[in-house]
Amino acid sequence: SSVELGAFLHGVIDRFDMIVKDENITFVRRIARQPLYVRMDADKVTQVLDNVISNAMKYSPKGGNVVVTLLQRGKQAQISISDQGLGIPKEAQEKVFDRFYRVDKARARNVGGTGLGLAIAQEYIQAHDGEIWISSEYQKGTTVYITLPYTFKGGRG
Ligand code: ATP
Ligand code: MG
Repeated sequence: SSVELGAFLHGVIDRFDMIVKDENITFVRRIARQPLYVRMDADKVTQVLDNVISNAMKYSPKGGNVVVTLLQRGKQAQISISDQGLGIPKEAQEKVFDRFYRVDKARARNVGGTGLGLAIAQEYIQAHDGEIWISSEYQKGTTVYITLPYTFKGGRG
């Protein structure tokens, strides 16, 4: 069905804001006011965002910001989720989309997970004719980019 992505993202972040009340994480919203409508399976895209935002929290020390951005780029709506966490070494950046891959044993032991989240995210986003990729600097932070083609752009830029 057709979903207005800005309102949808606010809803996802509202839910995280409620569950992280006691943790030292701040969500920063940079969401375009211009309405962008995307034809998507909202449950699946929710699952993708839940994993990416959970990753940003899991792999960050306490006290970090997680910045969620939505902007229009050509025919795509581009979402990005940035953290100030552990980062991912260059040689691992391709592999994080592989099933069951986790970057290192130490971080894998500290925080739970199966290593499936990003593999599923890639499958779902590609099924929506979108793309997902990572830009990361080891020990500085990570940004995950997701693009989805929009079908309609509302007025009011
Ligand atoms: P699951 O999502 O199945 O619970 P997971 O979080 O380990 O488990 P993915 O979400 O697929 O699996 O992520 C794969 C690996 O990529 C993670 O184990 C982690 O090592 C690394 N990773 C993912 N996101 C980040 C991030 N924001 N910062 C640092 N490392 C990350
Ligand atoms: Mg995960």
